Amino acid sequence: MAEKIDCAVIGAGVVGLAVARELALAGREVVILEACEAIGTQTSSRNSEVIHAGIYYPSGSLKARMCVAGRRALYRYCAERGIDHRRIGKLIVATTEDEVAGLRKYKAQAEANGVTDLVWRSAREMRELEPEVACVAGMLSPSTGIIDSHGLMLACLGDAENRGAALALNSPVTSGEITGNGIVLHVGGAEPMTALCNTVINAAGFNAQAVARSIRGIPGETIPPTFYAIGHYYTLSGRPPFRHLIYPVARQDWLGVHVTIDLGGQVKFGPDFGWIDRIDYGFDESRAAAFYTAIRRYYPGIKDGALQPGYTGIRPKIAGPGGPAPDFMIQGPREHGVSGLVTLYGIESPGLTSSLAIASHVAELLRASRPFGAG
Ligand SMILES: Cc1cc2nc3c(=O)[nH]c(=O)nc-3n(C[C@H](O)[C@H](O)[C@H](O)COP(=O)(O)OP(=O)(O)OC[C@H]3O[C@@H](n4cnc5c(N)ncnc54)[C@H](O)[C@@H]3O)c2cc1C
Repeated sequence: MAEKIDCAVIGAGVVGLAVARELALAGREVVILEACEAIGTQTSSRNSEVIHAGIYYPSGSLKARMCVAGRRALYRYCAERGIDHRRIGKLIVATTEDEVAGLRKYKAQAEANGVTDLVWRSAREMRELEPEVACVAGMLSPSTGIIDSHGLMLACLGDAENRGAALALNSPVTSGEITGNGIVLHVGGAEPMTALCNTVINAAGFNAQAVARSIRGIPGETIPPTFYAIGHYYTLSGRPPFRHLIYPVARQDWLGVHVTIDLGGQVKFGPDFGWIDRIDYGFDESRAAAFYTAIRRYYPGIKDGALQPGYTGIRPKIAGPGGPAPDFMIQGPREHGVSGLVTLYGIESPGLTSSLAIASHVAELLRASRPFGAG
């Protein structure tokens, strides 16, 4: 006999937990199915923990809209729930006259996205703000911040549980099928079960495509391909030389090796970018030379030996090398034709910043469809 579940959320990363919270607050009975033994052990704990302003993304894209709305919602939520965060601000730096045009483009793109608080800074003003940074001009993003991502996930889980949601750890969804009565999910792990669900949210991160392919009845042509891109972080030993996050003008289709500072004051450089063909968080220490070169563009004072291997994260990509960075792909019934199902693919950066806005968007997609079990 299949167990009956009103609403199953697959994946307890920051996105799955934010969605579970939103649906539980809306009165749905939610069960979160997580493959691992704890919440947030994948991409949600292997990132920069930056609350992004929403500067870079193409106008009108989901990334731009979700980032700007998500950032505002996140600052409010952090204040309400006492989640550790700091509006530390970010400086984007042009290290050559050629890169000044890049700064201007960022400002125009940011304004098109509704981010109107960027402030231009001359080389002299930049020296006052960050004496260790070498640049010809810069731009301050005062609304960029940092957050305790685990604190955020715990707060979302707590809100969901207070409204009756249940978290099932060690519960990987192994397959399923779409039926006339609902969506059937087969769950493995120590206590395997089969569930008949009115609503399913596939928030399985870089595994979302595999999960979708394992559910019979989701049209294969709607499922994007899977690619992975690893990013390494090095930490800096010694006292922090910076007070802000520092980002160079990007010379490639990712943001470049930048400076983040965590809430404990630890300075980190990264992430870099490399295509990989399977999930492997191993740290490739041969990357150090390229890091020193990239960092010396804006921080010439870094001493040899100052970098220590930190950790890696893996970007869940839906397009491979060559093309522009794709948008988030969030599919409701209109896209894949299945009632009661929302699938989330390619939720790379700024997914952490966007999580609360993505959750509202998912709830909206579900409201617009007629779920199974609705009268
Ligand atoms: C290097 C890097 C830096 C980043 N920096 C930032 C940043 O500074 N700011 C920002 O806003 N964003 C950032 N991001 C993006 C952000 O981290 C992600 O968008 C976000 O964490 C995605 O969360 P998620 O819940 O979709 O995925 P995940 O955290 O990967 O969660 C998916 C969950 O699904 C579970 N799962 C998988 N398969 C199954 C299954 N079959 N059954 C049940 N459960 C399953 C997994 O175990 C996992 O817990 C960064 C990303 C990377 C890679």
